[in-house]
Amino acid sequence: MRSVAVLGSTGSIGTQALDVVRNHREEYRVVALAAARNAELLAAQAAEFGVPPARARLCADDPGVLAELAADPASDVVLNAVVGFAGLPATLAALEHGKRLALANKESLIAGGPVVAAVRARGEGEIVPVDSEHSALYQCLRAGQPHEVRRLVLTASGGPFRGYTRADLARVSVADALAHPTWTMGAKITVDSSTLMNKGLEVIEAHELFGVPFDRIDVVVHPQSVVHSMVDFVDGATIAQLSLPDMRLPIGLALGAPDRLDEPFGAIDWSELRALTFEAPDLDAFTCLGLAYRAGRAGGGAPAVLSGANEVAVAAFLDGRIPWTAIADVDAAALDAGAGNVRDIADVLEADRVGRARAQAAVDGWSRAA
Ligand code: MG
Repeated sequence: MRSVAVLGSTGSIGTQALDVVRNHREEYRVVALAAARNAELLAAQAAEFGVPPARARLCADDPGVLAELAADPASDVVLNAVVGFAGLPATLAALEHGKRLALANKESLIAGGPVVAAVRARGEGEIVPVDSEHSALYQCLRAGQPHEVRRLVLTASGGPFRGYTRADLARVSVADALAHPTWTMGAKITVDSSTLMNKGLEVIEAHELFGVPFDRIDVVVHPQSVVHSMVDFVDGATIAQLSLPDMRLPIGLALGAPDRLDEPFGAIDWSELRALTFEAPDLDAFTCLGLAYRAGRAGGGAPAVLSGANEVAVAAFLDGRIPWTAIADVDAAALDAGAGNVRDIADVLEADRVGRARAQAAVDGWSRAA
C-alpha cells in the first residue's frame, strides 16, 4: 500500500490521479490533498478519500504549505501537479525527504533545473515523470544501461500549424492556435504546442531528468500522438512507448513504478490503428524550438528567463496584442539579453522576473509599432 499526497488535486492531473486511485484502493491511499482555490471540490475529495482536514489544504498556492505537505512523513509518494513556481519548494522538500516524486510541475525542471539537480544529487529521493513524453522515455530507458543510450527522441504532434510556411504562420489567429488536434489542454500550453515551445521546454526537462546532453536529444513530429517518445540505443535498436493519449497511464506509472497498473488505459486497437508517420520539425518556421535548445545549452538562469518571457509573450498573443509569429521574437529578445547563474530558489525567481520584464518591454514596443 502506497500513501500518496496529491498537490494540485483539483486540476486536470490531480483529478485524473484521484481517478486512478479510486479504482486501485487496495494499492494506494490518499493521505494529503492541496488545492489552490477550489474549496468545494477539495472538500468533496477529502470526504471521499478520508483525508483529515489538517492534510486537505486550500493553500492559495502558498509554497510553504505545499512544501510542508510534501515533507510530511505520512506520504511516501508526492504527486506534484501544482501549476507554476509555487510547486518548486514542494519538489525540493519531497526529494530532501527521500520521497518518490511523481512530477507534473514543469517549473521544477525547466526553470529550477540547477536547484533541483543539486538536491537530487545529495538526496535519497527519486523523480518519476508524469508528462507523457518523459514517462515514455522513462519506460524506454528500462530497455538498456545508461551507457548504452545513444539518443532520446521526443515526439511532437506538430500542433495545429504542422506543415504551415512562415507566410501561413504570419496570418494565424488565436482561435486557430487553440484548435489542438489531439490533446485538450489549457490555452497557454495549447499555444505552446502550436509554436513547439512546449516541445522545446520538454527537451530541457528531458535533459534535466535523464542527464543526456542536448546534442543527443532529438524532436520528431508524429501527428498521431501514439508514440509518446523513443530511445535509440548504441546497437541501433530503438525502443518506443505507444499508447492512446490518456494521462492516467503515465500518472499510474509514476505512482506505482516500477509496477504497472493492472488497468489498460489507452490500450491500442491494432486492427484500427493504421499508419504512424514521422517527419522532421521545420526549425525555420517554428523557431521557438531552437530557442529552447539555446536556453538549455546556456544553462543557469537561461531556461527560467525563456519560460518567464514565453508566458508573457503567449498572454500577449491571447490578448490580441502581438501576432503569433511575434511570440518567438519576444522570447528571443528576452533570451538574447543573457542570464546569470542559478543557485537557489531566489535566483530562479529573479531569472523568471527578468525574463518577464524583458518580454513585457518587447511586447510594449511591438504594440507601439503596430
Ligand atoms: Mg508533453
